[in-house]
Amino acid sequence: MSIDALIAPKSASLFEQAKHVMPSGYTRHMAVADPHPLYAAKADGCWITDVEGVSRIDHVNNFSALIHGHNNKEIVDAIASQAANLSSSILPCEWEIKLAELITSRIPSCEQVRFMNSGTEAVMIAVKAGRAYSGKSKIAKIEGGYHGQYDLTETSFQPNPSNWGNENAPNSVAYTYGTPKSVTDEVVVLPLNNITATREILRSNANDVGTVILDPMRLQLGMVEPHISYLEMLREETSALGMVLIFDEVFSLRCSYAGAQGMLGITPDLTTMGKIIGGGMPIGGLGGKKEFMSVFALENGGPKIKHSGTFTANPMSMAAGYVGMSLLTPAAFDELDRLGERLRQGMQKISTDLGIVGHVQGVSSLNAFIMLDAPLKNYRQLAAAMQAGYLDKLQAFHHLLLAERLLTMRGGFILSTAMTDSDIDFTLQGFSRALSKLQAL
Ligand code: PMP
Repeated sequence: MSIDALIAPKSASLFEQAKHVMPSGYTRHMAVADPHPLYAAKADGCWITDVEGVSRIDHVNNFSALIHGHNNKEIVDAIASQAANLSSSILPCEWEIKLAELITSRIPSCEQVRFMNSGTEAVMIAVKAGRAYSGKSKIAKIEGGYHGQYDLTETSFQPNPSNWGNENAPNSVAYTYGTPKSVTDEVVVLPLNNITATREILRSNANDVGTVILDPMRLQLGMVEPHISYLEMLREETSALGMVLIFDEVFSLRCSYAGAQGMLGITPDLTTMGKIIGGGMPIGGLGGKKEFMSVFALENGGPKIKHSGTFTANPMSMAAGYVGMSLLTPAAFDELDRLGERLRQGMQKISTDLGIVGHVQGVSSLNAFIMLDAPLKNYRQLAAAMQAGYLDKLQAFHHLLLAERLLTMRGGFILSTAMTDSDIDFTLQGFSRALSKLQAL
C-alpha cells in the first residue's frame, strides 16, 4: 500500500513543483517518503492536517521537539508578543537568563549553560569544549550513534559489514562522501553495551582521546538502549582517564523532569540539549559543571573557546523555550509517564493477542513498536535486523497507520502533553486495525 492509495493529489502535485527547485524535491532527508511526502497545512494540539484536509494524530512531534504538541496557547502568546516587541538583536535579553536558570535548576550536570540554534551546533561546541578542557583532540563515540550533522560525530553512524571491521574494535567509517580521512582518524568508535571491549579501547587510546559522547537512552530511534552498567562503566573510565563525558540529551531530555541523566542517576560532565528546550522554536543548548564550562569564560586569560552566532540566544527561542519548559512541571511528566504506560501496555497486548512477533520499548513519552521478538544489544544487531524485508514491513505498517489517521515514524510513538486518554484510545484502535491488516498482507 502506498501513499497514492490514500489519495493525496494535492501533495503529489506540490511534490512535482518542489522537484524543480530542490534536489529531488526535499530540504530534509529525514522527511523523505515514498512516493512523496504529505504536505502539512496546519496543526492544533496533537492533530496535524495535511493539504487534502485529512487530520492525523501527530506521534512524531517534529522528531520529538514538540513536547506540547502544536500551537500551545501559552507558547503561541509568548512568541507573538516577543515577535511584536523584539525578535533578535545584539543585546542579550532577560529570557536567556530565565531559561538558563530553569535548566540549571533541573538538569543535574548543568551548573551553567550556553545556547545555540540546533542540536548539531550544540554537539559541535560541546566537542570543542571537551577538547579545550582535556587538551586531547580525539573523541570517542558509539558505533551507530546519531548526534546530528557534524562530520566528526557522523563517523560510523551507519557503517556496514563491508567496512565496519572487528566488532571489539570497530573501524571509524565516514558517513558522507568526501569526508577527509583526517576527520575519521580523530574518532575512536565504541561497541555499545560491550563493557570489556569499550574499557580496552578507551584505555589504549587514553593519551589521545579527551572526549566521549553518547546518547544515554537510545540508539537510532529507540531501537537499542544502552545498559545502565555500560553507562556506569563509561562514567568511571572517563573520570579515571581524564576524558570529558558528554551525554547528548538532544532527544532524551524529554524522558523526565531532570532529563535522562536524572532518571538514570548518572551525571555527565557536559550535556547537549535541543528540541524541547526551545518550545518548538529552533534551539540548541550546552550545559555542564562550572569547571567544564569555564573554557568559555573570559577571566584568567580566556576564553579558550569563542562561541557566538547571529541568532544565538535569540529572544523568540528563549521566550518560547522558557514558557514551554515552565509548563513541563513534575505533574506534566507524571501524566506523560501514565499515558506512555497505557500506550505501551495496550500495544503489547494487541500484538500478543494477534500473535505478531513484536515488542514495545519505551520510557515516558518516547515509545517504539519493534517487530522483533527481543530487544537488540548494539548497532550491528540492528543493522542485521534492518534488512530489506523488515524495512518493507515497516514501510507498509507506516502507510497502514497513516490510513488510520496516525502519523508515526519507523514504529515510533512520541507523545505530547496535548494528548489525552481518548487520543491513546484512538491510537490503540488504529494500531490494532493496522497491525491486523499488516498480518494479512
Ligand atoms: N543529537 C541527538 C541525540 C539527536 O537526536 C539529534 C536530532 N534528532 C541531534 C543531535 C541533532 O539535533 P538537530 O536536528 O537539532 O541539529
